[in-house]
Amino acid sequence: MAKIGTDIEFATEILNNSELVGIPTETVYGLAGNALNPKAVAEIFKVKDRPSFDPLILHTSSLERVPEFVHEIPSKAHELANHFWPGPLTMIFRKKEIIPYLVTSGLETIAVRIPNHPLTIKLLESIDFPLAAPSANPFGYVSPTNAEHVNEQLGEKIKYVLDGGDCHVGIESTIVEFENDEINVLRLGGCTVEDIEKIAGKVRLRQISSSNPVAPGMMSSHYSPFTPIIIGDIDEIITRNSDLKIGVLAFKNEFQNINKDHMFVLSEKGDLNEAATRLFTGLRYLDTLNLQLIVSEYVPDIGLGRAINDRLKRAEAKRN
Ligand code: AMP
Ligand code: MG
Repeated sequence: MAKIGTDIEFATEILNNSELVGIPTETVYGLAGNALNPKAVAEIFKVKDRPSFDPLILHTSSLERVPEFVHEIPSKAHELANHFWPGPLTMIFRKKEIIPYLVTSGLETIAVRIPNHPLTIKLLESIDFPLAAPSANPFGYVSPTNAEHVNEQLGEKIKYVLDGGDCHVGIESTIVEFENDEINVLRLGGCTVEDIEKIAGKVRLRQISSSNPVAPGMMSSHYSPFTPIIIGDIDEIITRNSDLKIGVLAFKNEFQNINKDHMFVLSEKGDLNEAATRLFTGLRYLDTLNLQLIVSEYVPDIGLGRAINDRLKRAEAKRN
């Protein structure tokens, strides 16, 4: 198993050695390596069993450093950076030569983010390269939102997980790209569309497509537990599947006729932020119970609810 702790010097030493470290961010935990070193980047793909066509996000500690890695930064991107960085927003730019194509899966563009977590910012300030860091889970599975989640799944393959506690946002970053003066949202996430539109005007949601995954986070199946999951009217689905051992991931209300241990309520108050922070923990918990079916329901489709519903939809898609 990996060691878990808060030793930034140790984490720095490992990264300087082209090896990988699990890092906390406000969205989910990342599997980080030196983004400028192809050997470290190749190791990320190997440890995650991630297909090489799925590009990585570049993490750095300040907006001032971004021009080292990308060509021009559109003015709307500057506005968004000023409002949301450090934070759960990833922006796509044209990459400079210094970024290996291995990081971008051969694309001329690179996804960049400044994460909002004090330990990881300190870590980024203590190294002289940016970090490539996808979520620290095996490809396609539920993302990790605490250090134990990382250790459970990747602990045999990495030396160290920097422990920054539970993720405050709990859902991956929102990814946007700039096209002329327009903003396309490629992945819904921790920065809400409503908040982005307040700063930069109307955005477009790019169509989800498995055949053309500009962002593989856009693939119709992703973020899935091993147990089959169906989203819809919980009571009705339970009635239809009364012969199965069922678990329920509910938004705010408990459901009758379900063993309390098999029920995970995202937010009794009906708070979407709290629901987002608990979504992946809930899916992981229910996935450990050897159930035959997990049943869940969509949450209100506003603010963070849109990203939660997006993840539920993709978790369900695995079955088909
Ligand atoms: P993860 O860090 O595992 O949440 O995944 C990173 C996400 O960023 C994936 O969905 C990638 O497809 C997306 N991404 C990374 N680089 C690019 C890029 N250059 N263009 C579009 N999407 C990207
Ligand atoms: Mg991921």
